[in-house]
Amino acid sequence: MLPNAKTMMIPLLDLKAQYQSIKQEMDAAVLRVLENAQFILGPEVAAFEKEFAAYIGASEAIGLNSGTSALHLALLAAGIGPGDEVITVPFTFIATTAAIVYAGATPVFVDIEPATFNMNVEQIEAAITPRTKAIMPVHLFGQPAQMDAIMRIARQHGLVVIEDAAQSHGAEYKGRRAGSIGDMGCFSFYPGKNLGACGEGGAVVTSNPELAHKIRILRDWGCEKKYIHELKGYNYRMEGMQGAVLRVKLRHLEAWTEARRAHAAQYQSLLADSGVTLPVALPHVRHVFHVYTIRTKNRAALRAELERAEIQTGIHYPLPVHLQPAHADLNYSRGGFPVAEQACEEVLALPIYPEMTGAQLEYVARTIRNAAVTER
Ligand SMILES: *Cc1c(COP(=O)(O)O)cnc(C)c1O
Repeated sequence: MLPNAKTMMIPLLDLKAQYQSIKQEMDAAVLRVLENAQFILGPEVAAFEKEFAAYIGASEAIGLNSGTSALHLALLAAGIGPGDEVITVPFTFIATTAAIVYAGATPVFVDIEPATFNMNVEQIEAAITPRTKAIMPVHLFGQPAQMDAIMRIARQHGLVVIEDAAQSHGAEYKGRRAGSIGDMGCFSFYPGKNLGACGEGGAVVTSNPELAHKIRILRDWGCEKKYIHELKGYNYRMEGMQGAVLRVKLRHLEAWTEARRAHAAQYQSLLADSGVTLPVALPHVRHVFHVYTIRTKNRAALRAELERAEIQTGIHYPLPVHLQPAHADLNYSRGGFPVAEQACEEVLALPIYPEMTGAQLEYVARTIRNAAVTER
């Protein structure tokens, strides 16, 4: 770094910059809810559900209080419970498997592919047992899993497919949006996600009216009629305020996604031959780069170098789910899923968010190139 060059602090994401860019619309949306006082569900949530379902390309969306609730209710709506097995991946956020455990079922893992970090579809059939009820692929970092193979195997074996699309709003697989391909798609609107609420939020998207109906009942105490509880339900309703702000942000999502994709393309060219392994987007997908993940065997050194340059980085994820202490009862051990385990040692997430400037991207890339922590 030249002594007179001013360093810039670069965060992993910048929600304040996003708010400033849409402040008037956001303020008006929040005020609308304060005025109408429909704080739980209500007209803003109903409108958001319609708009989000249309955006994803499914007939219905059910607004919930988190992505975890979405996964949980999708499993319950599919009739999955104790004694059942759900096939998923060990390289994901723990919510994926927590939801399976909430339903009383057992997560069964297959390893990931090294290039995309997504489910290795070659391993699914060997993991199927008479107890298997569902496959839950995770579209990690914003790239859809191999849905053609997953759907073919699921249909052959009579399994339900629940997409964990918590990181992939607007991602596409062969022209279809993530979350619209399986029986149900589950989204999170956690503030840092590509479409984020001002608090917690989530949704299940489906084109199956029976599943949608069941999820609507389950999210609101199992009621079809007030105080008559048909099912053992939950308090998993979306707040009116979240519906209102998500409607505003949904209108900007395509522009933000295109900005993320442009930033990723810029990283791709600035970091070519830099010695680190760059993320791979398959040709038939639209990767929405929720996370821009490089790999390096020298992660600790590179991370320290970036920290010195005031560039924030993340590690998604440092420990695979099958080795988490919370899942010790599943009795998996190291070596079980070597590709996921190795990814945990090497992945490093770089700052990527729509409001990032070209100068910021260049600064991050230059810092990585100058760090010269290469595999060669
Ligand atoms: C964020 C996330 C979830 C959970 O969503 P919450 O809204 O935080 O409950 C589930 N799965 C994946 C892959 C996620 O990234």
